[in-house]
Amino acid sequence: MKAKWTKSLFSLLLALALLCSLLLPSAAAQRKPGDLDGNGLINSRDALLVLQYCVHLIKLDAQQIEAADADQNDKINSGDALTILKVAVGLIDEPTRKPATQKPTSAEPKVRKYVAFTFDDGPNTGAYVRLLDLAENKGAHFTFFLVGSYIQDSHKNILQRTVNLGCELGNHSFSHQRMGAGTAFASDPSLGVLDVQRCSDRIAELIGDQHRPVVYRDPLLDSTPAVLDAIHMPIIHGCNLYSGIEDWNPQDVNNMVDKLLYDDKGNLKIQNGDIFLLHAIQQSTVDATEIMMDILAKEGFAFVTVSELFALNGVSPSVRKYNNIS
Ligand SMILES: [Zn+2]
Repeated sequence: MKAKWTKSLFSLLLALALLCSLLLPSAAAQRKPGDLDGNGLINSRDALLVLQYCVHLIKLDAQQIEAADADQNDKINSGDALTILKVAVGLIDEPTRKPATQKPTSAEPKVRKYVAFTFDDGPNTGAYVRLLDLAENKGAHFTFFLVGSYIQDSHKNILQRTVNLGCELGNHSFSHQRMGAGTAFASDPSLGVLDVQRCSDRIAELIGDQHRPVVYRDPLLDSTPAVLDAIHMPIIHGCNLYSGIEDWNPQDVNNMVDKLLYDDKGNLKIQNGDIFLLHAIQQSTVDATEIMMDILAKEGFAFVTVSELFALNGVSPSVRKYNNIS
């Protein structure tokens, strides 16, 4: 008797569901263009889904496929990821679903040059939070390469705030140990893989799997090629490696800005796709970053995360070192 009731109830529910789907064909399809994960936001996570789909890493369901056509040109390709990222960084307005007969339109971006400010060794520092304030005030997206062993449970809120601001969390290993020649990691690259995995696990444990880093910076930039290959993420270095500025120590702010932005002749040396490698440690880094952003904004640069830099400049991430992504 009970089984019969259950079966009848199931049939009724099925019939209702079918009826609803006939009467309300668009109810489930109202996900806005670009919002693949249906969380109401159009952000780099959505762009990543498009890119992963384009290279056949993942499958999308029907709703996601419809939302993936962010530029509404009836094709799903890296152009959609680009549109999503432009929306995410405020360069263009959110796309609207075009009526069936409307020709696709493409909005021109206000800027075409991008740089990524990246900061290492967080999140257990005062400077980290001041950099978040700066990102928020300027509407900029930074990338923070976190050290897993520095992340306390009490950092959950600031990690959540980091991603809510559109900033990216990168992996800077768990132990922050050198992995270069002569180290245990060099003899056994799988130890390096585990150390890096532990950092991503720590981030996922606090704020969720969807925030596992997709970019890596090796501790002290010292790793053997075999270790880096095994870790299998793009290795993000910076355009300022030989500037002579060691910003993990306090710096003269004006000198720092001068050395990082200008060549010997006083010309601006920053180009589209450049990555700044800095540290979330000293107040002088925060102050210099703010000044550099003001200067670069006047030159038409926008401030994006490393992953956004890949997508906006149409570069597919590969397992190699990057000082510039363009
Ligand atoms: Zn470091």
